[in-house]
Amino acid sequence: MSAEQAHQILETAERILRDGAVCDRCLGRQFGWLSTDSSNQERGRSVKLVLSMQADQELKSGNADRGRELVALLASEGMFQPAKILAERNAVEYSQMTECRLCTIDGTSVFDRIPDIAERALEKIRDIEYDTFLAGCKVDPRLADAEDELRAKFNILYGETLKSDFNRALGKQLLEHIEKSVEFKHPDVVVVYDMAADKIRLQISPIFIYGRYRKLMRGIPQSRWDCKACGGKGCELCNGTGRKYPDSISEYIGIPMQNAAKGSQFKFHAAGREDIDVLMLGEGRPFVVEISRPMIRSLDLDAIAKEINEHSKGKVEVHSLAMSDREAGRLLQERSSENVKEYEALIRTEQPVDDEKLRLIEERFRDCTVEQRTPTRVAHRRADKIRMKHVYEVKLEKLDDKTVKALFKVQGGTYVKELISGDDGRTHPSIAEILGSPAKCIELNVTAIYDVIPDHNA
Ligand SMILES: [Zn+2]
Ligand SMILES: [Zn+2]
Repeated sequence: MSAEQAHQILETAERILRDGAVCDRCLGRQFGWLSTDSSNQERGRSVKLVLSMQADQELKSGNADRGRELVALLASEGMFQPAKILAERNAVEYSQMTECRLCTIDGTSVFDRIPDIAERALEKIRDIEYDTFLAGCKVDPRLADAEDELRAKFNILYGETLKSDFNRALGKQLLEHIEKSVEFKHPDVVVVYDMAADKIRLQISPIFIYGRYRKLMRGIPQSRWDCKACGGKGCELCNGTGRKYPDSISEYIGIPMQNAAKGSQFKFHAAGREDIDVLMLGEGRPFVVEISRPMIRSLDLDAIAKEINEHSKGKVEVHSLAMSDREAGRLLQERSSENVKEYEALIRTEQPVDDEKLRLIEERFRDCTVEQRTPTRVAHRRADKIRMKHVYEVKLEKLDDKTVKALFKVQGGTYVKELISGDDGRTHPSIAEILGSPAKCIELNVTAIYDVIPDHNA
């Protein structure tokens, strides 16, 4: 550092003090990114000390006016004890200031409040299970404004912010009482202190549980389905239940998980969904349950699976539960229209079918692309557009004259019922189209979904 730069620091510090009272820590923070292995307190105190020595030198060397003025500044706005002694010895008058303008709220420095804040935070966090945490804060807008103004006015380039200084100090204090580690990227809990409101908030990160479900009974929607007439409040139409269907797969799975984790709510993310009248068989459909504000993070997943399977016996079954993350849930949904799905269906035809026709259909649907305009039955909730879907394979077996058993292997997102019926020409080609007479899906089951994300238990 050149003499000029050193001089700049002292000059800036002096100008900051002339602008109003500043404590050691807040003064030092304005030079927080200069010199490591030091504290802001130490930086501020050092600068004030050098300035006091300068003042003393001026007093002793005959430049008394300048010396007296600087001593008064350091003793009053600087609130600096060595300067106060100098002032008294040299009969320099100064005013007793106690409030730093950069960190004081209601008469006390936010930094002095830290032991109390930490104690209150520990009380709040006591019943929560977590391994990692982070301290954070919402800076009092008045202090934030004062800091911004000061940084602009004195062209502060190497200053640390009050927020960063405070967070570090609070984190340090908390670490003295708890044997956890600080984690910046994905902490389990963030302790947030709101300076202006003097309130502590806990941000608890959600947990994510992966699994696969099988649906064994028709008539259960994947997610909770509220009564349209009353919007869930309960009316005559829904017998006061507020619901169109009494249960859902997401609730059979999510509620026991939420209870086990003592969370506030849950979200169900799945790799697509089957219609309400369609079964999900085979290895089941991958899903991720997100639980908000869990008090418990280490869960006995085997016990939870058992509970779900017992409670929803004959309806829904889960397996392969594993702790997961947000990314997995996002990928499940994102890729569900790209993965491969297998179905078994029962088809009823209007005209008797013969084996030759069935072989022709199988041939036509070997590795082909079908055009599907949004089906009439879902047009109310999905954009009307044409989707191109890949059909890998169709296998047909005649059960009687007008009944055919079918196996489909298709790209995720293919409307299988419409692939059979043609949906009045909206799906092309279709089984009905090639048959040359109407055909209808009377029963449908999903039998396999090839997961595109790695199966945690594979
Ligand atoms: Zn301060
Ligand atoms: Zn209703």
